[in-house]
Parts: sequence; structure tokens; C-alpha cells
Amino acid sequence: MRVSVAGTGYVGLVTGVCLAEIGHRVTCVDIDEQKIAKLTQGISPIYEPGLEELMKKNHEAGRLDFTTDSAQAYGESDVIFIAVGTPENEDGSANLTYVNAAAGQMAKQLKKDVVVAVKSTVPVGTNEHVLNVINQHKPMSVKVEVVSNPEFLREGSAIHDTFHGDRIVVGSETQSAGDLLEELYKPLGIPVVRTDIRSAEMIKYAANAFLATKISFINEIANICEKLGADIEDVAEGIGKDARIGPQFLKAGIGYGGSCFPKDTKALVQLAGNVQHQFDLLDSVISVNNRQPLKLIESAKKHLGSLSGKKVALLGLAFKPNTDDVREAASLVLAKELVKQGADVSGYDPIAAEEARKVLGDSITYCDSVSEAIEGADAAFIVTEWDAITSYPMDLYREKMKRPLLFDGRNIYSLRDIPDWMTYISVGRKEIVRG
Ligand code: NAD
Repeated sequence: MRVSVAGTGYVGLVTGVCLAEIGHRVTCVDIDEQKIAKLTQGISPIYEPGLEELMKKNHEAGRLDFTTDSAQAYGESDVIFIAVGTPENEDGSANLTYVNAAAGQMAKQLKKDVVVAVKSTVPVGTNEHVLNVINQHKPMSVKVEVVSNPEFLREGSAIHDTFHGDRIVVGSETQSAGDLLEELYKPLGIPVVRTDIRSAEMIKYAANAFLATKISFINEIANICEKLGADIEDVAEGIGKDARIGPQFLKAGIGYGGSCFPKDTKALVQLAGNVQHQFDLLDSVISVNNRQPLKLIESAKKHLGSLSGKKVALLGLAFKPNTDDVREAASLVLAKELVKQGADVSGYDPIAAEEARKVLGDSITYCDSVSEAIEGADAAFIVTEWDAITSYPMDLYREKMKRPLLFDGRNIYSLRDIPDWMTYISVGRKEIVRG
């Protein structure tokens, strides 16, 4: 099929590349000229394992191209995906400016009947609105149907997730529009959940809200474990083996971040509020998560006193490993608070330093290695569990730091492996304090 994808971010680019890989003829469209210039040179503007290779392969095979020109992009398509950003407004609701703009731009270019699939995460009712926008601008002769097709890929394993997803959700008002999407995805062999548009839109928010709830739940249990002398890692294993609960998303730490959970939980609270429903449970999930990264600072103050003039290493700046994305990352909260308290912060991330610099500027020092970041440091915070950080030789903390004081926000070590010279404070477990 001929496919166009509006938006070449984490979702749009991966979707376009993977659809080309299964044989479709794909045009990826973006309004960002720099991104499109990079893409046409075979360079991925985002870091996603395996993406660039697959992108080049399909571009060379003539199945994938990139453009900023909507006239060229949309006219002949059988299916057009909308995968533009839906960032949060100041009040937490979803900002639909980019979705509306993309819908208006494509509508004017349509030359034949088309199904528009909305992949961006959008509040319930948005797909109907998108159809109205398109109908206002499209040529009379063309018939357009809108299908909700929310995305569940995870940054860092996005290619794998696209080829091996648990399910594909297709919400449509007519059988034929949904069937076309099913046909498009058929080579992937992934089960398809068919539903109406509003339910499909809700599935995405409900999934993210549930996963965020699991994380805040285990973090609250961890916070109580700390006070009661229990061990969260054992507790998580003990409850996770119950098939009704499952082991996933039970890793205690300094909270969730990224471009989805924080904004989607807030948007769902807003959405509920719009229909006079106070979503108390999700409000609590959000406030637990807002508090969680600051635990490391409170612990550091307990051990070091004032942080003013202290050198603190932040190990990991991305919101999770294997991505360059720093949106809503715990590292940003920690860096800003440490700087505010007068600490001298040195950050290390194997990939995301440039993205972090766009937010933090020169308020912290960016280092090229763990060793450089911890050199002479009073404390090190483990923020992101990159391999380069989890496999860093422990002896070097003693060799390089002023004193080996580690605050582990991701519980990367077993307490049994902590050497007898290291002070090690983690989440939901006994503090190990030396000398
Ligand atoms: P992103 O910010 O990485 O990319 C969005 C892209 O859209 C940008 O390149 C931007 O320039 C482009 N764009 C904006 N307006 C445009 C227009 N009119 N025409 C063409 N391109 C336009 O966003 P993302 O992380 O890929 O997220 C996209 C959507 O998917 C969001 O709604 C998000 O909530 C959802 N989502 C994201 C993830 C994820 O892991 N990032 C996972 C599932 C769902």
C-alpha cells in the first residue's frame, strides 16, 4: 500500500521505517527541515537501536522517502498516519495544535479516498474532531475515514516492539476502514483488537495510567519498606510471581519519566475532570511520582549536610537506557534541585548529553565517562541504568571519588555485592553505611 506518515519523531519514524520493511511504499513527512535534511542523508535524528540501519536499507530499496512538502506527500496515499507530538498544556491537558495543523495540511492535498489513522496519543473525542477538520478542507470528491490506532512502542526497543507488539488496537466507525488497517499490518502477525474509536482512544490512556500506577504503587511500598526494615526487591519478587500481578513494572526507583507517562496521566486526569469525574487514584500516582526523585537529594543531605559546594555526579541523563530522550527525566529534576542547593554537578550519559544540554544549558558540567564524572566527587547518584553505568567497575568509585558514597536511584546492585568500603543508599532497602 502507499502510506504517508506525518511526524518523524520516535513514533512516526519507527512506524514509517517498519512499514517500509514489510513492503509498503512509505513517505515520511515533517515540518522540521533540519530533520528531513538529516533523514535524506541517511542520518536518524533520534537515537533508537537498529533504526538507522533499517532506515537506510529501505530508503535504498526505494520503499522509503522523506519530505517537508505536503503536496508531494499525501495526495496518492491509501493510508495516512498522524504521529505528531501531543505535548501537555500548562493545565496538564493534551495540546492538539500539531494534530490539527497536520490534519488541515493533509486535507488540502488529498486526491483519492483515504483512511487517516491517528497514532498520536489524543483525548477521547479527538478523532471525531480530526475528521471534522479534514472534512472542512478536503476536496468534495474525496472520501476520508478516520481510524484510531494508538501506539504502544517503547523508546529504546521501538523496532522490536513494532515487529513483536502484544496487540494492535484499531478503533473505527466502519468495518471497511478498520479492515484496511488490519490488512496493512497483516505481515506483522500481531493480534488486532478491533473496537470503536472512543474506546481505542481510551485504551491508550488507560494502559499508560495503569503502568504508571504500578510504578508509583511499588515506589510507595518501597518507601514504607525503608521505614519498616523490609527489602523491596524481595517484596517485588514475592508479589510479582503471583500471575494475577506479574513481575513487570515492579522495579522500585526514583519514578517514571519520558514523553508519555507524565503527560498522559495528567491528560487523563483532565479528561476525567471534563466529565466531572475526580480521578483521585491517578492524582495520587502523579504526586507520588513527583516526590520520588527528590528522595536522593534528601538522603544526600542526611549524609553530607548542606550540598552547597559539594561535587555530585549524576550518572545517566536520559529518562531510561537506550534512548537520547530526556523529556521529563528524573535527571532534570535532580540537576535543577542540586544546582539550586549550590552543588557542583557533573553529568554523564553515553548518548543523551546533548539533549540534556538543551534543557540544562551550562548549569552542569557534561562528562565523557563515568570516571570523569565521579573524579573527586562527594557523592554519585545513579539515575539511568545504562550498561556503561551498571557494568562500571566498583573499585573505581573508591579510587576516583573523594569518598565512595553512592545513591542508587535504580537499585542496580544486589546488597550482597556492595563492598565493605562503600556507603550505598538505594530505594526501599536497608542503607549500607561505612565508617
Ligand atoms: P516527537 O516529538 O518525537 O515527534 C513529533 C514530530 O512531529 C516532530 O518531528 C515534529 O516536527 C513533527 N510535526 C509537528 N507538526 C507536524 C506537521 N504538521 N506535519 C508533520 N510533522 C509534524 O513525538 P513522539 O515521541 O514521536 O510522539 C508522537 C505521538 O505519539 C505523541 O502523541 C505521543 O504521546 C505518542 N506516543 C509516543 C511514544 C514514545 O515512546 N515517544 C509512544 C507511544 C505513543
